Amino acid sequence: MKVGIDLGTTYSTVARYDRKTSRTEIINNLFEKELTPSVICFLENGEILIGEDAKDMQAGGAGTIAASFKRGMGDNSFTVEANGKVYTAEELSAMLLKKLISDAEAKTGEKIDSVVITVPAYFNDFQRTATIRAGEACGVKVLKIINEPTAAAISYGYSKESDKTVLVYDLGGGTFDVTMVRINKGNIQVMGTDGNHILGGKDWDAAIVKFVCEQFVEEFGVDPREDEPTKNELIVASENYKKVLTKTDSVTIQIKYEGYSGKYTLTRNQFDMRTQFLLNATKDVCMKLLDDIGKTWDDIDEILLVGGSTRMPQVPKFLNMISGKPVIDHADTDLAVAKGAAITSELYCSTSTGVREKQVTDVTAHSLGVLAESPGGDRYINEVMIKRNSKVPSSVRKAFKIAPGNMTDIIEVYTLQGESKIPLDCYVLARVIISGFYNSGDGATIDIEYNYDENGVVKVSAFQDGERLEVYSESVPDDIAWMGDKPESRSTGAPIAKNVVLCIDLSRSMRNSLDEVRNVVRDFALSVADENTKLGLIGFGDKVGIIRDMTSDPNTIVSALDGLKVNVYGRGTDASPFGTAATMLSNRPGGKMIVILTDGIWGKRDFAVSEALNCKNSNIAVVGVGIGEADVAFLKQLSTVEEGAMYTTLDRLGETFSTIARALNSGSMGMRESAEGSARLGSAEVRARLR
Ligand code: ADP
Ligand code: MG
Repeated sequence: MKVGIDLGTTYSTVARYDRKTSRTEIINNLFEKELTPSVICFLENGEILIGEDAKDMQAGGAGTIAASFKRGMGDNSFTVEANGKVYTAEELSAMLLKKLISDAEAKTGEKIDSVVITVPAYFNDFQRTATIRAGEACGVKVLKIINEPTAAAISYGYSKESDKTVLVYDLGGGTFDVTMVRINKGNIQVMGTDGNHILGGKDWDAAIVKFVCEQFVEEFGVDPREDEPTKNELIVASENYKKVLTKTDSVTIQIKYEGYSGKYTLTRNQFDMRTQFLLNATKDVCMKLLDDIGKTWDDIDEILLVGGSTRMPQVPKFLNMISGKPVIDHADTDLAVAKGAAITSELYCSTSTGVREKQVTDVTAHSLGVLAESPGGDRYINEVMIKRNSKVPSSVRKAFKIAPGNMTDIIEVYTLQGESKIPLDCYVLARVIISGFYNSGDGATIDIEYNYDENGVVKVSAFQDGERLEVYSESVPDDIAWMGDKPESRSTGAPIAKNVVLCIDLSRSMRNSLDEVRNVVRDFALSVADENTKLGLIGFGDKVGIIRDMTSDPNTIVSALDGLKVNVYGRGTDASPFGTAATMLSNRPGGKMIVILTDGIWGKRDFAVSEALNCKNSNIAVVGVGIGEADVAFLKQLSTVEEGAMYTTLDRLGETFSTIARALNSGSMGMRESAEGSARLGSAEVRARLR
C-alpha cells in the first residue's frame, strides 16, 4: 500500500488514495484520531512513547520530551538528549514516521511499502535529504518529497476540469507561506512561493496576552508577564480565547496574579484592530511574491485558504478586500496536506510502467549558486546558477575558466544557497571536489552543472569537452571565514577597523541573569579591545538608551557595565535597538557589527526584523544571542549570517561570547569593509576556487 504522510511540526497525519473509488481517506491512529501529535517522550525506565501517549506525558511533565523537532531537520546542532543517548531531528522524525506507519498498518491490516512525505516549501537541500533518510530508515520507499502548499493545491484541484490560477495562503501556528499555482485539468504547476517563517497563529495569541496584561497593569500596577509560569499559562489560555473569538463576537477573560483578579472583555472588533498589522504583514509577503514573478492580483482566479489560523473570520474578509477575488475555504484545512500527499503517491508519481497520470511541477524556494572568484579576483562571490522560483526539476550548466598559468588538477566547488552575492550571507550546502580533467596551464574550461531533482535535492556534475568528470563530496569545513577574504592572499593586507555595538536586553526578566551578563560582556570587551576596534553599549526594553557611545577604551565599557540595571528602559521588550545602533555605526570606517543579547520574546518582532534587514543592507552584521525564553527562529531572522543566531544557556554564555570574539578577531561573521553586490558576471570569467 502507498500512503501520503503530512509530517507536521505539531501534528502528523497519514492518508491514502483509493483508485477504485477515487476517494482519499485519512487513516486514523490507534486512538481513532486523524491527527497524531508529533511528540516523543523518553521515560526514565527506557520506555519510549510516541504520539498521543507522549503528548499526555508532556502535559504531566514526566520524562524527556522531544517536540517541534521538525524545526531542527538537517541541522546537526539540534539534538535531544535522553537516557544518555543523543538524538538528531532526523532520528526523531524516523521514530515518529515508524510509529505512524505501524499504526496505519495495524489499522488497515495492509503493509505499507511506499510513502510520499510533505515538507515546507522553504525546506532546503539538507532538510529534504534528512526527511528522505528518515523515511528510508523506516524500511519504506520514499516515492517523493512534496511541498506542503503544493500538496494542498493537489487535494483541492486534482479532480477539477477547469483551468485556474490559485494563490494558496497557508497561515499555520508559527509560519506563513504563500504559493501561486496553476491548475489545469488536474495538472499542477507551481509558479512561485514565498513566506515568513516567524509569523503565525502564535502572534495572534500574543496579541491577546498583551491586551490582557495592559489592562491588568492599568488596573493594578503589576504585570502578569513578569512571572514566567503565569505568562506561559496565559499564552496557552489565549490560544483558546482566540478560538472562541473565531466563533463568537466577544470573550471574557479572567486573570489572577499577585492576589489581584481582573476580568476583561475583548470584542472581535478590538481583536481584529489589534492584529491588523499581522494581516498586513501577510499581505506584504503576497505582494512580494507577485512582484517577484511578475504577476498581479488580476492574474489570480481565487485564493485557497490552508492552515489552522485561516479559520479566523478576519482572514478571508481581509483577503477578499485586498484582492477582490473569491476566497475558498478548504473543506478540511487540517487534512488537505496529507490528502494531497496520498493523491500524489498514486496519481503524480511514475508507476512501474512509467505512466504518470497527472503532472506536477514545483519551484525552488531558494537560489542556488557556486562560490566563485569575482572577475577582478579581489573577492569571493556567490554566482547564482539556479534562481529562486525556478521550475524543478531543473538543470543549469555554466562554464568556469581556470586562470591561465594555474596548473591545478583539482577544483573545489562550494554550493551556496541564498540570494546574496556575498558568500558568507548564504548557506554553504556542500563541498564537491572535481578531478580528472586536462589542464596544461593555458586556461582550461570546466563546465559545472547543477541539477535540482523533483524532490528539491541538488546534485553537482562536471564536464570537460562534454566528458563527465569525476566528482566527489566532502564535508563542508567548519571554518569558512576565508570566503569573506580576498582570494589566495587571505591573511595579508592592512588590519581593518571594527565597530561593534553591544545591545543588552534590560527588561525585567533579565534580572537574574544580569550578574553573569556583566561578567561575560566585560571579558568580551577586554578580549576584543585594540586600537582598531571600537565598542558601544546600548540597553533596551520598551525604550532604547545609549549607555556608552563608540569608544576604543574597553575600560569605559567595563565601568558602564557595573552600573547596568533592569527596568530602566521599561519592563517589557517593545523597542528595537537596531535604529539607534545603526546611527552609532553610521559613517564609521571598517567592519560593523551589532550583537544583541536577549532572553525574551519581543513585542514588535516584524518591526525589529525589518530594521535588522536595513542594517544588513548597510553592511552591518547582526548577531543575535538568546538565553532563557528567547526564540531562536526569531534570532535567525534578525541575524545577517546564518551562524549568527546563537541560543545558549546562562552558564555557557561565556563560551558563546568567546566564539563571537574569535570570529571578530579573524574578520569573519559577515563583517566586511564594503560589499559591491551589483557586479554582473559573464560566467566564463568566473573562476571557481582552486586548491
Ligand atoms: P502548523 O501547520 O504550523 O503546525 P496549523 O495549520 O495546524 O499549524 O495551524 C495551527 C494554528 O491554527 C494555531 O495557531 C491554532 O491556534 C490556529 N487555530 C486552529 N483552530 C483555530 C480556530 N478555530 N480559530 C483560530 N485559530 C485557530
Ligand atoms: Mg501547516
